[in-house]
Amino acid sequence: MKGKFPVDKFQQVRTPFYYYDTDLLRETLRTINQETSKHERFTVHYAIKANANPKVLRVISQAGLGADCVSGGEIQAALQAGFPANKIVFAGVGKSDWEINLGLDKDIFCFNVESIPELEVINQLAAAKGKTARVCFRINPDVGAHTHANITTGLAENKFGIAMRDMEDVIQEASHMQSIQFIGLHFHIGSQILDMGDFEALCNRINELQDQLERHHIRIENINVGGGLGISYEHPNRLPIPDFKAYFDTYAHHLKLRSGQTLHFELGRAVVAQCGTLITRTLYVKQGTYKQFAIVDAGMTDLIRPALYQAFHKIENISSEEPLETYDVVGPICESSDVFAKAIDLNKCHRGDLIAIRSAGAYGEIMASQYNCRQLPLGYVKEDF
Ligand SMILES: *Cc1c(COP(=O)(O)O)cnc(C)c1O
Repeated sequence: MKGKFPVDKFQQVRTPFYYYDTDLLRETLRTINQETSKHERFTVHYAIKANANPKVLRVISQAGLGADCVSGGEIQAALQAGFPANKIVFAGVGKSDWEINLGLDKDIFCFNVESIPELEVINQLAAAKGKTARVCFRINPDVGAHTHANITTGLAENKFGIAMRDMEDVIQEASHMQSIQFIGLHFHIGSQILDMGDFEALCNRINELQDQLERHHIRIENINVGGGLGISYEHPNRLPIPDFKAYFDTYAHHLKLRSGQTLHFELGRAVVAQCGTLITRTLYVKQGTYKQFAIVDAGMTDLIRPALYQAFHKIENISSEEPLETYDVVGPICESSDVFAKAIDLNKCHRGDLIAIRSAGAYGEIMASQYNCRQLPLGYVKEDF
């Protein structure tokens, strides 16, 4: 699939850089819109934290998605990219006062609240402005997901959300607050989830909660089930678009929505991961005692997922058609964990060859750092070449 990339044009620009295939991104967004339109009252918010490149955000906002933000900076990025404030939801365990004030000033759709102390602060800040804050409560459903331990979020032991047993008390408490309007419940069980059974378990848990709340005559207008749909890191060419049909159908079949309820989703990775590639240049090919290293000019500062989560990314030499050889692909950073892959087969590498690290559109560019006083990687879209 080397034909995917304008390799000659890539040779002209400074490496490493991110390249976003905006055609694939648009096709992914079309698929999402097509699948959600089959279901009444399904609405998708893009999780800005996965990738906040302004050009990428612009394409997503143009497709009509809302935005899921976890900081004031993300609210600003979302507004700048054209997401309407009334489609912005704001989550996070530790919202600062300025961030809450920004959300209030911009009249965002809703704050996803994670504790009573936070609710009290939002109430006070809203009262000071003579405003009412719409809130959803993030409930920790104690549902595990079959994914990496660092990216499960819905277990009782995680820092996120309000425990189920406290749910009714919190809702009661909110009903006495002058400047708070309780509008729904929020959940998010983790990331890179490929087993639809995990989402089904969340649906069953929400059904139980709704029954319980109804017994106390508490009505919920909005249910937000978060994000978490995974992608195929192994087969970016064969499976460039995640199985959105299976994902949305799981919720349609298993979640008992009441009439008038809106179901919100917050997808990050599934929207942007496959459209992004980290392009890096081979600096040296080094023969070690036991292995051969391809030393490239990108490092964990540009893409931290392999070092942080032992994540797998498919890697290709897009400059060479020579026979395969086995390499460890490593970066220049002074850390032993600065390794993109061990013992993988690449077309024979030479100094100067461009290497594509695939499926890097989510949690890639946005997590880049300047460690070792490095420059941040640039981000280009297809139209730039
Ligand atoms: C990170 C996050 C998401 C997006 O998760 P993905 O796995 O990228 O879909 C959605 N909602 C919340 C609250 C999050 O923290």
